[in-house]
Amino acid sequence: MFEQVVPHAPAAAAAIDIRRVDKVYRGQVQALNGVAVQVRRGEIFGLLGPNGAGKSTLVKILTSIVAPTRVEGHLLGMPIGHKPTLARVGYLPEHHRLPEYLTGAQVLDHYAALSGMPRAARHRRRAELLDLVGMQEWAGKRVRQYSKGMRQRIGVAQALMHDPDLVILDEPTDGVDPVGRRGIRWLVQQLKERGKTVLINSHLLGELEMVCDRVAILVRGRVVRQGMVAELTRDSCRYEVTVRGEGPAWVPADRLLAAGGEACRFTVPGADPEDLQPIIDRLRREARTIIAIAPLRESLEDLFMRTVGGEGEVPAGGGGRGR
Ligand code: ADP
Repeated sequence: MFEQVVPHAPAAAAAIDIRRVDKVYRGQVQALNGVAVQVRRGEIFGLLGPNGAGKSTLVKILTSIVAPTRVEGHLLGMPIGHKPTLARVGYLPEHHRLPEYLTGAQVLDHYAALSGMPRAARHRRRAELLDLVGMQEWAGKRVRQYSKGMRQRIGVAQALMHDPDLVILDEPTDGVDPVGRRGIRWLVQQLKERGKTVLINSHLLGELEMVCDRVAILVRGRVVRQGMVAELTRDSCRYEVTVRGEGPAWVPADRLLAAGGEACRFTVPGADPEDLQPIIDRLRREARTIIAIAPLRESLEDLFMRTVGGEGEVPAGGGGRGR
Protein backbone atom coordinates (compact mmCIF):
# COMPACT_ATOMS: atom_id res chain seq x y z
CA MET A 1 0.00 0.00 0.00
CA PHE A 2 1.15 3.53 -0.65
CA GLU A 3 0.66 6.57 1.50
CA GLN A 4 -2.65 8.21 0.53
CA VAL A 5 -3.18 11.65 2.02
CA VAL A 6 -6.49 13.40 1.33
CA PRO A 7 -6.59 16.47 3.55
CA HIS A 8 -7.99 18.96 1.04
CA ALA A 9 -11.33 19.08 -0.73
CA PRO A 10 -10.94 18.71 -4.50
CA ALA A 11 -11.27 21.95 -6.44
CA ALA A 12 -14.66 21.69 -8.17
CA ALA A 13 -13.36 23.06 -11.47
CA ALA A 14 -10.39 20.68 -11.56
CA ALA A 15 -10.28 17.44 -13.53
CA ILE A 16 -6.89 16.68 -11.99
CA ASP A 17 -5.91 18.34 -8.73
CA ILE A 18 -2.67 16.88 -7.43
CA ARG A 19 -1.14 18.70 -4.49
CA ARG A 20 1.75 16.32 -4.09
CA VAL A 21 3.02 13.11 -5.67
CA ASP A 22 6.26 11.35 -4.82
CA LYS A 23 7.54 8.23 -6.51
CA VAL A 24 10.70 6.36 -5.62
CA TYR A 25 11.32 3.24 -7.72
CA ARG A 26 12.81 0.33 -5.81
CA GLY A 27 13.87 2.59 -2.97
CA GLN A 28 16.47 4.18 -5.25
CA VAL A 29 15.25 6.24 -8.19
CA GLN A 30 13.31 9.36 -7.19
CA ALA A 31 11.13 9.70 -10.31
CA LEU A 32 8.70 12.28 -8.85
CA ASN A 33 9.40 14.67 -6.02
CA GLY A 34 6.55 16.78 -4.64
CA VAL A 35 4.76 17.18 -7.96
CA ALA A 36 1.69 19.45 -7.92
CA VAL A 37 -0.44 19.80 -11.06
CA GLN A 38 -3.88 21.31 -11.60
CA VAL A 39 -5.77 20.54 -14.80
CA ARG A 40 -9.10 22.36 -15.17
CA ARG A 41 -12.18 20.66 -16.55
CA GLY A 42 -12.59 21.20 -20.26
CA GLU A 43 -9.04 22.30 -20.99
CA ILE A 44 -6.23 20.79 -23.05
CA PHE A 45 -3.21 20.44 -20.80
CA GLY A 46 0.30 19.56 -21.96
CA LEU A 47 2.86 17.73 -19.87
CA LEU A 48 6.39 18.21 -21.12
CA GLY A 49 9.91 17.59 -20.00
CA PRO A 50 13.15 15.96 -21.11
CA ASN A 51 13.49 12.18 -21.18
CA GLY A 52 13.46 10.71 -17.69
CA ALA A 53 11.71 13.76 -16.18
CA GLY A 54 8.89 11.59 -14.82
CA LYS A 55 6.05 12.31 -17.30
CA SER A 56 5.12 8.67 -17.91
CA THR A 57 5.39 7.87 -14.22
CA LEU A 58 2.92 10.66 -13.45
CA VAL A 59 0.47 9.45 -16.11
CA LYS A 60 0.79 5.88 -14.84
CA ILE A 61 0.08 6.98 -11.29
CA LEU A 62 -3.03 8.86 -12.45
CA THR A 63 -4.23 5.71 -14.22
CA SER A 64 -3.29 3.43 -11.28
CA ILE A 65 -0.79 1.45 -13.36
CA VAL A 66 2.08 2.45 -11.06
CA ALA A 67 1.66 2.81 -7.29
CA PRO A 68 2.95 6.16 -5.96
CA THR A 69 5.18 6.33 -2.91
CA ARG A 70 3.01 9.16 -1.63
CA VAL A 71 0.04 10.88 -3.20
CA GLU A 72 -2.20 13.71 -2.17
CA GLY A 73 -4.76 14.62 -4.79
CA HIS A 74 -7.91 14.02 -6.76
CA LEU A 75 -8.89 12.82 -10.19
CA LEU A 76 -12.37 13.88 -11.37
CA GLY A 77 -13.23 14.75 -7.80
CA MET A 78 -12.20 11.39 -6.27
CA PRO A 79 -8.94 10.45 -4.53
CA ILE A 80 -6.17 9.24 -6.87
CA GLY A 81 -6.30 5.44 -6.98
CA HIS A 82 -10.12 5.25 -6.74
CA LYS A 83 -10.70 2.44 -9.25
CA PRO A 84 -14.37 3.15 -10.26
CA THR A 85 -13.33 6.69 -11.33
CA LEU A 86 -11.03 5.19 -13.95
CA ALA A 87 -14.18 4.19 -15.88
CA ARG A 88 -14.48 7.93 -16.65
CA VAL A 89 -10.91 8.14 -17.97
CA GLY A 90 -9.79 7.30 -21.51
CA TYR A 91 -6.13 6.37 -22.04
CA LEU A 92 -3.88 6.06 -25.05
CA PRO A 93 -0.58 4.61 -23.79
CA GLU A 94 2.77 5.48 -25.37
CA HIS A 95 3.98 2.83 -27.88
CA HIS A 96 0.66 1.03 -27.69
CA ARG A 97 0.30 -2.20 -29.71
CA LEU A 98 -3.05 -3.01 -31.27
CA PRO A 99 -3.68 -6.64 -32.29
CA GLU A 100 -2.43 -6.75 -35.90
CA TYR A 101 -4.90 -9.47 -36.96
CA LEU A 102 -7.99 -7.45 -35.98
CA THR A 103 -9.67 -4.84 -38.15
CA GLY A 104 -10.00 -1.30 -36.82
CA ALA A 105 -13.69 -1.91 -36.14
CA GLN A 106 -12.90 -5.14 -34.26
CA VAL A 107 -10.28 -3.35 -32.15
CA LEU A 108 -12.84 -0.81 -30.98
CA ASP A 109 -15.37 -3.54 -30.29
CA HIS A 110 -12.80 -5.66 -28.43
CA TYR A 111 -11.62 -2.90 -26.08
CA ALA A 112 -15.14 -1.66 -25.38
CA ALA A 113 -16.27 -5.24 -24.63
CA LEU A 114 -13.37 -5.56 -22.17
CA SER A 115 -14.70 -2.49 -20.38
CA GLY A 116 -18.14 -4.16 -20.13
CA MET A 117 -20.02 -2.06 -22.66
CA PRO A 118 -23.20 -3.75 -24.06
CA ARG A 119 -23.08 -4.86 -27.72
CA ALA A 120 -25.69 -2.40 -29.09
CA ALA A 121 -23.97 0.56 -27.42
CA ARG A 122 -20.59 -0.65 -28.71
CA HIS A 123 -21.77 -0.77 -32.28
CA ARG A 124 -23.41 2.63 -32.14
CA ARG A 125 -20.39 4.24 -30.52
CA ARG A 126 -17.97 2.50 -32.86
CA ALA A 127 -19.69 3.99 -35.91
CA GLU A 128 -19.62 7.48 -34.36
CA LEU A 129 -15.94 7.26 -33.49
CA LEU A 130 -14.80 5.78 -36.79
CA ASP A 131 -16.49 8.80 -38.32
CA LEU A 132 -14.88 11.23 -35.86
CA VAL A 133 -11.35 9.88 -36.44
CA GLY A 134 -11.91 9.60 -40.20
CA MET A 135 -11.37 5.84 -40.37
CA GLN A 136 -14.71 4.57 -41.77
CA GLU A 137 -13.19 3.53 -45.06
CA TRP A 138 -10.45 1.58 -43.32
CA ALA A 139 -12.59 0.10 -40.56
CA GLY A 140 -12.81 -3.31 -42.26
CA LYS A 141 -9.07 -3.55 -42.98
CA ARG A 142 -6.64 -5.25 -40.62
CA VAL A 143 -4.42 -3.16 -38.36
CA ARG A 144 -1.30 -4.63 -39.98
CA GLN A 145 -2.16 -2.62 -43.11
CA TYR A 146 -2.43 0.66 -41.21
CA SER A 147 0.08 3.51 -41.20
CA LYS A 148 1.33 4.85 -37.85
CA GLY A 149 -1.15 7.74 -38.08
CA MET A 150 -4.06 5.37 -38.64
CA ARG A 151 -3.03 3.23 -35.68
CA GLN A 152 -2.91 6.36 -33.54
CA ARG A 153 -6.36 7.41 -34.72
CA ILE A 154 -7.81 4.00 -33.87
CA GLY A 155 -5.88 4.22 -30.57
CA VAL A 156 -7.52 7.56 -29.80
CA ALA A 157 -10.93 6.12 -30.78
CA GLN A 158 -10.51 3.16 -28.40
CA ALA A 159 -9.73 5.64 -25.61
CA LEU A 160 -13.05 7.35 -26.32
CA MET A 161 -15.36 4.34 -26.70
CA HIS A 162 -16.80 4.61 -23.18
CA ASP A 163 -17.31 8.40 -23.54
CA PRO A 164 -14.82 9.39 -20.81
CA ASP A 165 -14.72 12.82 -19.16
CA LEU A 166 -10.92 12.89 -19.07
CA VAL A 167 -8.72 11.66 -21.93
CA ILE A 168 -5.02 11.01 -21.35
CA LEU A 169 -2.94 10.79 -24.51
CA ASP A 170 0.68 9.69 -24.09
CA GLU A 171 2.71 10.81 -27.13
CA PRO A 172 -0.29 10.68 -29.52
CA THR A 173 1.65 12.06 -32.49
CA ASP A 174 4.90 10.15 -31.97
CA GLY A 175 6.04 8.74 -35.30
CA VAL A 176 3.10 10.28 -37.16
CA ASP A 177 3.75 12.28 -40.34
CA PRO A 178 2.81 16.00 -40.51
CA VAL A 179 -0.55 15.37 -42.22
CA GLY A 180 -1.44 12.73 -39.61
CA ARG A 181 -0.32 15.07 -36.82
CA ARG A 182 -2.63 17.77 -38.08
CA GLY A 183 -5.50 15.25 -38.03
CA ILE A 184 -4.74 14.33 -34.42
CA ARG A 185 -4.56 18.01 -33.43
CA TRP A 186 -7.97 18.57 -34.98
CA LEU A 187 -9.27 15.55 -33.11
CA VAL A 188 -7.96 16.86 -29.79
CA GLN A 189 -9.71 20.17 -30.45
CA GLN A 190 -12.93 18.30 -31.21
CA LEU A 191 -12.65 16.59 -27.82
CA LYS A 192 -12.37 19.95 -26.12
CA GLU A 193 -15.40 21.23 -28.03
CA ARG A 194 -17.31 18.23 -26.72
CA GLY A 195 -16.44 19.27 -23.17
CA LYS A 196 -13.71 16.69 -22.52
CA THR A 197 -10.58 17.39 -20.53
CA VAL A 198 -7.44 16.30 -22.38
CA LEU A 199 -4.01 15.66 -20.85
CA ILE A 200 -1.33 15.26 -23.50
CA ASN A 201 2.14 14.01 -22.84
CA SER A 202 4.36 14.91 -25.78
CA HIS A 203 7.91 15.82 -26.66
CA LEU A 204 6.72 17.67 -29.79
CA LEU A 205 6.64 21.17 -28.37
CA GLY A 206 5.35 22.83 -31.53
CA GLU A 207 2.39 20.46 -31.44
CA LEU A 208 1.64 21.22 -27.80
CA GLU A 209 1.92 24.94 -28.36
CA MET A 210 -0.74 24.77 -31.06
CA VAL A 211 -3.35 22.91 -29.01
CA CYS A 212 -2.74 23.35 -25.29
CA ASP A 213 -4.49 25.85 -23.05
CA ARG A 214 -1.90 25.31 -20.33
CA VAL A 215 1.29 23.31 -19.84
CA ALA A 216 3.50 22.02 -17.05
CA ILE A 217 7.23 21.51 -17.51
CA LEU A 218 8.66 18.65 -15.50
CA VAL A 219 12.41 18.44 -14.86
CA ARG A 220 13.98 15.67 -12.77
CA GLY A 221 10.72 14.81 -11.08
CA ARG A 222 9.69 18.38 -10.21
CA VAL A 223 7.27 20.81 -11.86
CA VAL A 224 9.39 23.85 -12.67
CA ARG A 225 6.83 25.82 -14.72
CA GLN A 226 3.06 25.65 -15.00
CA GLY A 227 0.57 27.93 -16.70
CA MET A 228 -0.65 29.28 -20.02
CA VAL A 229 2.06 29.41 -22.66
CA ALA A 230 1.24 33.10 -23.22
CA GLU A 231 1.76 33.82 -19.49
CA LEU A 232 4.95 31.78 -19.24
CA THR A 233 6.48 33.59 -22.21
CA ARG A 234 5.16 37.08 -21.38
CA ASP A 235 8.54 38.40 -20.19
CA SER A 236 9.98 37.66 -23.60
CA CYS A 237 7.49 39.89 -25.45
CA ARG A 238 9.10 42.50 -27.65
CA TYR A 239 8.82 44.26 -30.98
CA GLU A 240 11.44 43.99 -33.64
CA VAL A 241 11.79 47.20 -35.67
CA THR A 242 13.56 47.37 -39.03
CA VAL A 243 14.46 50.78 -40.49
CA ARG A 244 16.37 51.75 -43.63
CA GLY A 245 19.99 52.88 -43.29
CA GLU A 246 22.17 53.33 -40.22
CA GLY A 247 20.78 52.56 -36.79
CA PRO A 248 19.61 55.59 -34.75
CA ALA A 249 22.29 56.60 -32.23
CA TRP A 250 19.69 56.63 -29.42
CA VAL A 251 19.06 52.87 -29.64
CA PRO A 252 21.01 51.19 -26.81
CA ALA A 253 23.74 48.87 -28.12
CA ASP A 254 22.25 45.82 -26.38
CA ARG A 255 19.01 46.29 -28.35
CA LEU A 256 20.67 46.44 -31.75
CA LEU A 257 20.31 43.20 -33.68
CA ALA A 258 21.86 44.23 -36.96
CA ALA A 259 23.35 47.49 -38.18
CA GLY A 260 25.81 48.85 -40.68
CA GLY A 261 24.17 47.51 -43.84
CA GLU A 262 21.26 48.83 -45.87
CA ALA A 263 18.91 48.32 -42.95
CA CYS A 264 19.12 48.26 -39.19
CA ARG A 265 17.12 46.06 -36.81
CA PHE A 266 16.54 46.66 -33.11
CA THR A 267 14.18 45.49 -30.39
CA VAL A 268 11.74 47.36 -28.19
CA PRO A 269 10.87 45.36 -25.05
CA GLY A 270 7.29 44.83 -23.90
CA ALA A 271 3.96 43.72 -25.32
CA ASP A 272 2.05 47.00 -25.08
CA PRO A 273 1.72 48.76 -28.46
CA GLU A 274 1.40 52.09 -26.61
CA ASP A 275 5.08 51.81 -25.62
CA LEU A 276 5.96 51.54 -29.27
CA GLN A 277 4.22 54.72 -30.44
CA PRO A 278 6.85 57.24 -29.19
CA ILE A 279 9.53 55.20 -30.97
CA ILE A 280 7.57 55.34 -34.23
CA ASP A 281 7.00 59.09 -33.75
CA ARG A 282 10.70 59.66 -33.20
CA LEU A 283 11.70 57.59 -36.24
CA ARG A 284 9.23 59.53 -38.39
CA ARG A 285 10.48 62.88 -37.01
CA GLU A 286 13.96 61.81 -38.06
CA ALA A 287 12.52 61.00 -41.52
CA ARG A 288 13.60 57.37 -41.32
CA THR A 289 11.88 54.75 -43.44
CA ILE A 290 10.26 52.06 -41.31
CA ILE A 291 10.45 48.78 -43.21
CA ALA A 292 8.84 46.46 -40.67
CA ILE A 293 7.63 46.21 -37.11
CA ALA A 294 6.90 42.70 -35.81
CA PRO A 295 5.60 41.64 -32.40
CA LEU A 296 7.65 38.70 -31.11
CA ARG A 297 7.35 36.26 -28.26
CA GLU A 298 9.47 33.23 -27.48
CA SER A 299 8.11 29.87 -28.53
CA LEU A 300 7.34 27.01 -26.20
CA GLU A 301 10.57 25.45 -27.43
CA ASP A 302 12.56 28.55 -26.38
CA LEU A 303 10.85 28.51 -22.99
CA PHE A 304 11.54 24.81 -22.64
CA MET A 305 15.23 25.22 -23.47
CA ARG A 306 15.52 28.21 -21.12
CA THR A 307 13.88 26.14 -18.38
CA VAL A 308 15.63 22.81 -18.73
CA GLY A 309 18.96 24.29 -19.79
CA GLY A 310 21.50 21.61 -20.73
CA GLU A 311 19.25 18.79 -19.56
CA GLY A 312 17.03 18.65 -22.58
CA GLU A 313 18.13 17.77 -26.05
CA VAL A 314 16.11 19.80 -28.57
CA PRO A 315 12.98 17.70 -29.01
CA ALA A 316 12.56 16.42 -32.55
CA GLY A 317 10.07 18.42 -34.58
CA GLY A 318 9.68 20.85 -31.74
CA GLY A 319 9.99 24.00 -33.80
CA GLY A 320 7.83 26.83 -32.49
CA ARG A 321 6.27 29.75 -34.27
CA GLY A 322 7.83 32.72 -32.53
CA ARG A 323 11.45 33.53 -31.89
P1 ADP B 1 9.67 10.33 -18.83
O1 ADP B 1 8.35 9.73 -19.16
O2 ADP B 1 9.62 11.79 -18.55
O3 ADP B 1 10.73 10.01 -19.84
P2 ADP B 1 9.78 8.31 -16.74
O4 ADP B 1 8.60 8.54 -15.90
O5 ADP B 1 9.72 7.20 -17.75
O6 ADP B 1 10.19 9.69 -17.45
O7 ADP B 1 11.05 8.03 -15.82
C1 ADP B 1 11.40 8.85 -14.70
C2 ADP B 1 12.58 8.24 -13.97
O8 ADP B 1 12.17 7.01 -13.36
C3 ADP B 1 13.75 7.89 -14.88
O9 ADP B 1 14.93 8.08 -14.14
C4 ADP B 1 13.52 6.42 -15.18
O10 ADP B 1 14.75 5.77 -15.44
C5 ADP B 1 12.94 5.94 -13.85
N1 ADP B 1 12.03 4.78 -14.02
C6 ADP B 1 10.93 4.73 -14.79
N2 ADP B 1 10.31 3.53 -14.69
C7 ADP B 1 11.07 2.80 -13.82
C8 ADP B 1 10.97 1.46 -13.29
N3 ADP B 1 9.96 0.66 -13.62
N4 ADP B 1 11.92 1.07 -12.42
C9 ADP B 1 12.93 1.88 -12.06
N5 ADP B 1 13.09 3.14 -12.51
C10 ADP B 1 12.18 3.60 -13.38
